[in-house]
Amino acid sequence: MQNITCIYLKTLSQQSGENPRSSLLIEYNNQNYILNLWEPWHEIGDYLPPYTKINVFNVEIVEDGESVFYSAGSQSIVVIDPDILMYASSVGNISYCPRSYYINDIVGELPSPYVAVRGTIVHVALSAAIASKSKPSLILPDVLNWFELNYEQLGYKKSDVHQDVKVMTESLDDFMDNFSDFSIPESLFLSPELGIRGRIDVLDKNQIYELKTAKVTNADQVRFSDSMQVSLYSYGIGNIRNTNTSQSGSVIYVGSGDVVSKQVNPSWGILRYSIQLRNLAYRISYLGYIPPILPEEQNKKCEKCSVRILCTLICAGLYQYRTCENCNNNIICSKKALPQKRQSARP
Ligand code: SF4
Repeated sequence: MQNITCIYLKTLSQQSGENPRSSLLIEYNNQNYILNLWEPWHEIGDYLPPYTKINVFNVEIVEDGESVFYSAGSQSIVVIDPDILMYASSVGNISYCPRSYYINDIVGELPSPYVAVRGTIVHVALSAAIASKSKPSLILPDVLNWFELNYEQLGYKKSDVHQDVKVMTESLDDFMDNFSDFSIPESLFLSPELGIRGRIDVLDKNQIYELKTAKVTNADQVRFSDSMQVSLYSYGIGNIRNTNTSQSGSVIYVGSGDVVSKQVNPSWGILRYSIQLRNLAYRISYLGYIPPILPEEQNKKCEKCSVRILCTLICAGLYQYRTCENCNNNIICSKKALPQKRQSARP
């Protein structure tokens, strides 16, 4: 097994069925080779433009008589156009629904602008407290002043926001003892190997801490989207080309009023799935891919989705119509707008 950086030239052939495969012509070390991409990477051959750079980790070299070719499958990781650094947080977003990522990134609609501002205030209180060796709750009044314009233009008063974030910052006060004098807040993370960028909330001697304002209790598992984000950081910090090892990480949840700290055990499998989603985010952001609405069996996600009304409007704009049965606006609709035959027909 080895790691290669090559240039995609064209797709030579594709095979569907039980063992889907794309055979790509690539240039590696100034020579042309065939790279076979098996599941879960086979779809890359459908959409990649010629001359795109690809990083392939754990690729198998196959010698067949006098010819040599490369093969990447479920043990490998394939990063398309790794020089474009996608945000690690977008991987979590796209795991909920690729279309909600499309709405956030291309249409520019935030699911909840106030929740985003509130989260930023808690993050800044923690990082400012680490930098000034203070406590998040003590520094909170200053942080609220810094962000006054952001929340006031959304119609919130300082006293309301203070009420919202006070308990979260107070719960972090005691947790500060877990950080050493070497901890770095808001550490910039760039990985041209994995095509990922982001900011690690706290990096303490290679231990990664991610802060989340979600309501997670001690009885809950760490959220999978957060495990993916920590895994991307941890493999990105390690030397993936030589060792394939990762650093340990934790997610600190403060939304329930107490600090709930969950250990993340990064694994090659989580990393592989995260990079699949990273490639999908890249395809949406840079290759004009518009993901379809979720299939009906995932309708529960649509019911809870914060951008569902916009999603429906975009369906109309893209001629991806919904029927009355699977439309997520069915609560507010008269249900008489569509022709009779489409009111219950499946798309
Ligand atoms: S309504 Fe459903 S398909 Fe649309 S963005 Fe939300 S989860 Fe995705």
